Amino acid sequence: MAEKRDYYEVLGISKSATDAEIKKAYRSLAKKYHPDVNKEPGAEEKFKEINEAYEVLSDEQKRKTYDQFGFAGMEGSFGGNYGGFTSGGFDDLNDIFSSFFGGGMGGFSSSSGRTRPDNAPRKGRDRLMKIDVSFLDACFGKTQTVTLNVDETCMQCGGSGAASKSDIETCPTCHGSGTVISQQRTAFGVFQTQNTCPDCRGSGQRIRRVCPKCAGKGYERKKTTVEVKIPAGINTGQQLRVSGKGERGTNGGPNGDLYLEINVMPHEQFVREGKNIYLEIPVTAVDATLGTTIDVPTINGEVTMKIPAGTQDGTQLRLKGEGVPDLRGGRAGDQLCTVRIKIDTKLTMKEKELYKQLRELEGKPGKENIWEKFKRSFS
Ligand SMILES: [Zn+2]
Ligand SMILES: [Zn+2]
Repeated sequence: MAEKRDYYEVLGISKSATDAEIKKAYRSLAKKYHPDVNKEPGAEEKFKEINEAYEVLSDEQKRKTYDQFGFAGMEGSFGGNYGGFTSGGFDDLNDIFSSFFGGGMGGFSSSSGRTRPDNAPRKGRDRLMKIDVSFLDACFGKTQTVTLNVDETCMQCGGSGAASKSDIETCPTCHGSGTVISQQRTAFGVFQTQNTCPDCRGSGQRIRRVCPKCAGKGYERKKTTVEVKIPAGINTGQQLRVSGKGERGTNGGPNGDLYLEINVMPHEQFVREGKNIYLEIPVTAVDATLGTTIDVPTINGEVTMKIPAGTQDGTQLRLKGEGVPDLRGGRAGDQLCTVRIKIDTKLTMKEKELYKQLRELEGKPGKENIWEKFKRSFS
């Protein structure tokens, strides 16, 4: 398959396009490239591309995911799980063609406007699942296995629910339309009402012998595992989309999609805020006074950092680029180290002696006493 084009580019709109602008662009392109209208080579591919772009950009959640992650967020999408249109596209196409050809796809129109036949394939609902990702996996990315139960199309009958093709016949009650129309004569005229066919429950088909594998349901509930690519830099609350692992579609429609909401687990030492990582580092009073270099742990391993002479407690020192990698390949965050000066409580005789000597120097000429200076600020 050729390299995928940006969805906004496909629809010829800007990244800030409103819903109305997206819909408008989609409608005019879909009209132009619909395979029933446009027989030029490549038109069908183009039409599919337009539909795919619209499916994502017209859905607030999908658009957000796409804006955030690009195609990476659409992992496994449109992988040929289904060839038809999604429910969204279907509705809009129906709209387009009712205005275009003077009739909806379903034929019968009630006074309330267009209706859709009950036996039209419909995409299943999307599903949301939360998954925990370890702190470091969220930083560096990982392929994570997610186990879930999904209704999958029965392999034996291909979703028809029939033992063989010849076991499917057109419903004699509704002649395949899935609906029955009843007429009512009143003083005001003749009224027609449309109802779902009671014999086939809208499918338009009758099955003589059911598929032995799925007992006629057309699908099987399966425990499956999905390999999900967690991109480096992902954070809590962000969602990944797995195509076709949502709820079952109806009448042979595709499954909905699965959205995985990420929960990044806390780390014992590192605290993450966006792309930056915060870490408290203990420094002795002597090192803070005289200055030193120390090896600081980061998610990338130890990094040598300079503690300048005279560093105060609470000082924040920055290690550039040692934070969380950028989700879209931009600049990584920083690590911010907060200095915590630790006072030794167990001194040796020798240390005690040296501290006493230091104290004697306080207040001597050329050395201002911190305490005296503090008290003076009150007078
Ligand atoms: Zn019927
Ligand atoms: Zn089956």
